[in-house]
Amino acid sequence: MAKRATAAPSTSTSGDVSIDEKAAIDRVTKMMAIPGKSGEERAIAEFITAELKLAGVPDSAIQHDSAHKKSHLGGQVGNLIVKLPGTVKGPRRLMMGHIDTVPLCVGCRPVREGNLIRPKDPTTALGGDNRAGACVVLTTALEILKRKLPHPPLTLLWPVQEEVGLVGAKFVSAAKLGHPKLSFNWDGGPPDMLVIGATGDFNMEIEITGIASHAGAHPEDGVNAAAIASLAIADLTRDGWHGLIQKGRNAGTSNIGVISGGDATNVVMPKVHVRAEARSHDPKFRQKIVDQFRKAFENAARELKNSAGRRGSINFEATLKYESFKMELNEPSVEAAKSAMESLGMAPAHRISNGGLDANWLTANGIPTVTMGCGQQGIHTVDEKLNIESFLQACHVAMKLATTV
Ligand SMILES: [Zn+2]
Repeated sequence: MAKRATAAPSTSTSGDVSIDEKAAIDRVTKMMAIPGKSGEERAIAEFITAELKLAGVPDSAIQHDSAHKKSHLGGQVGNLIVKLPGTVKGPRRLMMGHIDTVPLCVGCRPVREGNLIRPKDPTTALGGDNRAGACVVLTTALEILKRKLPHPPLTLLWPVQEEVGLVGAKFVSAAKLGHPKLSFNWDGGPPDMLVIGATGDFNMEIEITGIASHAGAHPEDGVNAAAIASLAIADLTRDGWHGLIQKGRNAGTSNIGVISGGDATNVVMPKVHVRAEARSHDPKFRQKIVDQFRKAFENAARELKNSAGRRGSINFEATLKYESFKMELNEPSVEAAKSAMESLGMAPAHRISNGGLDANWLTANGIPTVTMGCGQQGIHTVDEKLNIESFLQACHVAMKLATTV
C-alpha cells in the first residue's frame, strides 16, 4: 500500500487533494447502509441529491435521464446526472460511480474494524461495490463546493442498474453529459489499478425444436431435442469452441449456462432451450465463436431424422450485451489518472478486464473512460470489506482529477 496521499509530496501547482477524512468515512458508511439493489436506486439517489443541494447545487443542475424506462427491469429512477459549470477554464471531465448494489447487500449494517469496514450481519454483503465509488464522486463534489475550490467544468454521473448487465450506462442519455473530454469511473478494486479496457459479450438464445412421439410405443417417430443439443455441445467441446478458446493468436471464452426442456420420460423431448454466452476482446473473433455455435446446432439438427425422414429445427438468436474496448496508454484520461496517482506517491498499474464495465458503454458513446477501484474487497460475497485507507486514496485521486487543469 502506498503512503497516505495527504503526506505525499505534490509536484503539481494546482489540485488540492485534502479532504475531511472523517466526513468521507461517515458518508460512505451511511451510504452502504442504504438499501438499493438494481432497479431500486431512488433512496440512494435522493441521499446524493440532498447532500449536493445542501452544498449549494441548484435544482436546475440536477437531473435524471430515463434509462430505467428502457430497462427490462423497469426500475424506480434513471441515471443521476449533475453538471457543475467550471470556475476555471479547462476540458470538461466526467466522474462516475454506479449506485446499485447486488441484492446480497440489502439490509447491511456496516461496522468499522480498524482500517476496514465490514457488514455486521454474517448473511449480507457490504455494498462497498459500489457505494464507495459513488461516494468518491460525491465527496469530491462536496469538498470542491464547500471550500469553493477552483475547478474546470464537471459532469457527475451516478448510473443505475450496473449489476444487471450495465443497463443504466447502456441507455444513458449521452447528450445530457455535456461532451466531456476526460472521463473517470470508480468501481470495485484497488485504488491504484487503471482498467483501460474490457471484454465484449454476446448472449445466445438457442431454441431447439424436435418432434414429439411416445417414447415406448414409437420412439422412431420422434426427434429428440436434447439429443440435437448434446451433439452440438459435444462438437463445440471437442473442437475447442467451448470454455476457454484459443485458436492461434485469437482468444475468447464461451459457456453453455442454462439448458431447460422436457417434462416426462415417456415423451421424446420436443423442445430444449439453451442459453449461452461468448466473450472476446476482439469483436471479429467473438462473432466467429457465435458463428461456430450456430453452425454446430444447425449441423446437429440436420444429422438426426425420424423414421419418416423428418428433422427438428433450430431458432438461434445472438444479441450483443456490450462491446469490448481497449484504450491506449496515451489516451488523455489514462494519462491524467496515471499522473494524478503518481503525484500522490502511488504506483499505478493497468489491466484489461474480462468482465464488462459501465466504461464499455461510455466508450461506445465516444467518451473513453478509465476505471479505478476504491478499496473494495470480496465484492458480491458476505466477506465483502472496504479498506478505508484505499477508499481515502481514491478520494484524493478524484480530488486531483477534478481540480487539476
Ligand atoms: Zn460494481
